Amino acid sequence: MKINLNDFFTEAEWNKVMSFSENRETPFQLILSDVIRQKYQELREHLPYAKIYYAVKSNPAPEVITLLNELGSHFDVASIYELRKLLSLGVAPERLSCGNTIKKTNHIREFYESGVRLFVTDSEADLRNVAQAAPGAKIFVRILTEGVLTADWPLSRKFGCQPDMAFDLLVLSKKLGLEPYGISFHVGSQQRDIAAWDAAIAKVKYIFDWVKEEDIKLKCINMGGGFPAHYLEKTNDLETYSREITRYLQEDFEDELPEIIIEPGRSLVADSGVLVSEVVLIARKSRTALERWVYTDVGKFNGLMETLNESIKYPIYTTKNGLEEKTILAGPTCDSVDTLYEIHQYELPLNLAAGDRLYWLSTGAYTSSYSAVEFNGFPPLKTYVI
Ligand SMILES: *Cc1c(COP(=O)(O)O)cnc(C)c1O
Repeated sequence: MKINLNDFFTEAEWNKVMSFSENRETPFQLILSDVIRQKYQELREHLPYAKIYYAVKSNPAPEVITLLNELGSHFDVASIYELRKLLSLGVAPERLSCGNTIKKTNHIREFYESGVRLFVTDSEADLRNVAQAAPGAKIFVRILTEGVLTADWPLSRKFGCQPDMAFDLLVLSKKLGLEPYGISFHVGSQQRDIAAWDAAIAKVKYIFDWVKEEDIKLKCINMGGGFPAHYLEKTNDLETYSREITRYLQEDFEDELPEIIIEPGRSLVADSGVLVSEVVLIARKSRTALERWVYTDVGKFNGLMETLNESIKYPIYTTKNGLEEKTILAGPTCDSVDTLYEIHQYELPLNLAAGDRLYWLSTGAYTSSYSAVEFNGFPPLKTYVI
């Protein structure tokens, strides 16, 4: 089951990882900024008509934000804390949108007073708060989407509303002196079924037409994230996603294509990251057990949150070779939730030993930002960007 490194990194990139990691205490996350640069250019190339708003939550490292800012990216911001960070790094407020539908009124005000004019909502109460604290702002209404079963990290149900509510909110936003600007959606993160965009775009088109009855002309579709990173579970490549999504847009909107926004997080940064860890302990639970427990110095609380329900299956690399056997992987803390993979059959070499390194690939997104402050005293995951 040994993975092929060439599927993930060039030889030069891997050499960089190895030489940086040597003699450095684990665990840590290493980000190769060239990979992010390359992913950004790929997105620009395949979806040239789309404005990119990087979803900051996926990896808020200052170096990552600065790099994307230099590349011309916009940013999808979830909280005033991310907002303050971005502003302190010199990102212009015109490049930001407030994408969280759940926010306090005084936080909305801070966004507005900082110069942010794009807000996403999905409820009447939030919309009224926006009208009060951000007068005249541009409003996206977020709709519910399907595709829960085919996304490895679904974001549905908690966010978005049905088309009838979207209609009401757009009409109300106009009454409240806001600018009804567009519809947003998110088909679920690491969405492996491209048809999820087809269904969502068709809904958007329906709402665009419906609100014309109220003299509202929407200008923009915010298609969120959902684009793939390279994990064990197979996906199509970005080119295929882009081609299909472009076709859906053209079919529904023909030559009246509105402004298009995308908010990639995972697909921009995941593949740039390697989580370098060390085996702490290897144990068997009985004399005759056919499987080993391998405990590593990374776990759910310092980077591997998305192993919850074994949702994301990271490619794991070891320099050890030889006969392999089924392994249950677990983290270092005193909580049994901190078991990483028990159902999915990872196989690792029998000669793997305590002190050996395990390299978790495609871990640039949703790892360091999920790391706990001090569960069991373990510090948050360190990030290095090279
Ligand atoms: C998390 C999030 C994203 C990023 O999604 P990915 O699947 O990581 O690309 C984009 N938009 C919003 C509103 C989000 O909450």
